[in-house]
Amino acid sequence: MPTSVAIVKGKNGRDLSEVRRMMGELFSLIGPASKLIPQNSRVLIKPNLTAEENLWEKGMLTGPVFMQALVEEVQKADPSEVIIGEATAIGLNTKKAFAANGYEEVARATGARLLDLYDGEFEEIKTPEGGLLKSVHVSKQVLRADFFINAPVLKTHFCSTITVAMKNLKGTTTYDEKKRFHYLGLNQAVAELNAVLKPQLIVVDGLIALEGDGPIAGTPVGLNLLMGGTDAVAVDMVASRIMGIDPADVPPLFIARKMGYGIGEEGEIKILGRSIEEVRRPFIPACAPLKIDNEKIRLRDGKACNPCRDGLRIALNRLKESGTSLDQLPAMEISLGSQASLPASSNSVLLPIGNCQNQYRHLPNYVPGCPPPAFLMADQLREIFGIPRKFGPRKDFFME
Ligand code: SF4
Repeated sequence: MPTSVAIVKGKNGRDLSEVRRMMGELFSLIGPASKLIPQNSRVLIKPNLTAEENLWEKGMLTGPVFMQALVEEVQKADPSEVIIGEATAIGLNTKKAFAANGYEEVARATGARLLDLYDGEFEEIKTPEGGLLKSVHVSKQVLRADFFINAPVLKTHFCSTITVAMKNLKGTTTYDEKKRFHYLGLNQAVAELNAVLKPQLIVVDGLIALEGDGPIAGTPVGLNLLMGGTDAVAVDMVASRIMGIDPADVPPLFIARKMGYGIGEEGEIKILGRSIEEVRRPFIPACAPLKIDNEKIRLRDGKACNPCRDGLRIALNRLKESGTSLDQLPAMEISLGSQASLPASSNSVLLPIGNCQNQYRHLPNYVPGCPPPAFLMADQLREIFGIPRKFGPRKDFFME
């Protein structure tokens, strides 16, 4: 069925009065809040707040200026309550993410309520038959909201190519589900979640976006853009075109298409406001080549996918950035990809990475996942170094 995606371009995404004007323009294109949102609704807005530090101005998170303007626009519909709800990334604390990124000020200014979704209950809902997940635990607060708004930021992502509307829904699930997503296959899991969890509205914060080493270590892009729509697949298709990325290269999009939900063809998307051509700004993609300049590390790459290679690159960089010299590592053999194998005996530390190396799951440093999250690879390297892990024991990431 045809759907619409609205695009609004401004000049200064840090200025509240300018963003208010842009938000007003966006809602005039997609339909005023009073028509979209029934009166007395309990509205839940889900941002992307996956860091405990103040990183919204780096393009990593949904920003407080955007959020204040969005809440104020929603309040024109006379809702009974506006809740800003998030369940942040594995190992992080949602309340710290709110506090560090100006959300307490947004709550004070607007009367919206901040909610750490981890404090509430989760409900198991069925996902499509024949898929990976079978079912998924989603926040009851999200499921019970009268009107659910997905409010992601626009970024490149080393595993999903981009992270905008579809991927942001992972933040409605439990810590254990997030681990399971990474263990079973992140992009497929995201696509299956989106098949059963449909926000009524998506409003994208493209004021300060992120390119390059996303979703965490990339470079901010002052895009000064807002997008709005009701179909996550359509919104992500348009976002990827704006970023100069072919939607066919975005795994959750082509999986959704195979599963048969969301908009099927780009030609069926009606663009409101600015055209894609007017606002297109090619983004540097997330995946940089993996180069290991250390004689003690031997890499056995058996046709691994980019996300496994890139996760390893990010993990090694994180250690270097935290002041750990890779020269202190013992001799190591790292294997990834389905066609890599490790020697039966070796004096080196063996580090098999990813579900493709599942035959080595009995080894003490095996890192599970498809792709395994970069933080899990970094934790395993820390353990090899003798540094305490940051994200909990390795066994918590094994699932049957
Ligand atoms: S585990 Fe295998 S299939 Fe999964 S991302 Fe890594 S190389 Fe690709």
